Amino acid sequence: MPLFKRTTMTFSFREFKNSKKAKSPHFFVVGNPIEHSLSPVMHQAALDFHGINAEYHAINLAQAEISDFISWLNRDEFLGCNITIPYKNQFIEVVDHIDDYAREAGVINTIAKSEHKLIGHNTDIHGFTAPLTQYADRIEGGRVIVFGTGGAAKAVKIGLEDLGVEEIVFVSRSPEKSIVNSDHVWVETVSYDQWQSYADEACMFVNTTPLGMSPNIDRSPISDLDSELLESKICYDLIYNPIQSKFLQQADKFGATTINGLDMLIMQGNRSFEIWTGKTFPINDIKKLLINRLK
Ligand code: NAP
Repeated sequence: MPLFKRTTMTFSFREFKNSKKAKSPHFFVVGNPIEHSLSPVMHQAALDFHGINAEYHAINLAQAEISDFISWLNRDEFLGCNITIPYKNQFIEVVDHIDDYAREAGVINTIAKSEHKLIGHNTDIHGFTAPLTQYADRIEGGRVIVFGTGGAAKAVKIGLEDLGVEEIVFVSRSPEKSIVNSDHVWVETVSYDQWQSYADEACMFVNTTPLGMSPNIDRSPISDLDSELLESKICYDLIYNPIQSKFLQQADKFGATTINGLDMLIMQGNRSFEIWTGKTFPINDIKKLLINRLK
């Protein structure tokens, strides 16, 4: 079967509504900007792999189009969507139900339809924990330092709670404002001048900031001077472009176990796809496809 051949397209919402594509069954990812998204590539490949008659598009949505977009979700041709920056917090009020993870995170990244109702899910949590199950023994009962306090950090917090972590130290540019709470684990939010004193006792570091993401690949949440604090720890960067961020290069230099954001991307997408279609991604083929794209 000729797999992965189809080209995917990015539309503004207005262009999409007026296109022929809008009249046939579709999924999409919605965000702004959205051109960088790899979701269309992996979801279209999976739809084609399973012979599902639907297309997956990238939609660049302007703030002014939100109410129009919300009415679109009731159309029969709309089958489901992913939501990304800056809208992850904005559509939770729009859906009829949310799953437990989405309720706890207060953020949805997936909308599915069930009996004409819209259901909100958060699949980032599953995506985040999937590559960590093999390190569960090193993480359970431990302390984790998380850089950033945005939408992804909230999903990371719930994933870490599920993995049995005991302490989470969030690092924020404004720790007095960006406090993340938890009923389940001990949480503290500190500044970029303070996290170093928590590092020795930590088993893992997670970068949830965009620092180091293409095109600003020379950036990292930590300075080169601090990078020896990563020695022999697990270092996880949610960034997947580039595949080895500066943060992971710093960690690699000191013998850390490094994990990039590609598996998270694939596994959150796989979970969304499973919710929509009851089927799973051909994971290995999708991973090869994305690595080729990123090269
Ligand atoms: P977000 O809601 O904008 O949060 C990012 C957080 O990082 C902010 O809340 C901020 O925390 C911190 N931050 C932002 N700019 C910064 C800067 N210039 N310097 C230092 N800290 C900064 O974004 P998000 O949705 O959480 O996504 C964050 C990153 O994770 C992005 O790179 C995204 O691509 C990646 N991600 C990857 C996956 C995946 O599947 N691999 C999934 C989701 C997200 P403070 O204000 O507290 O400092």
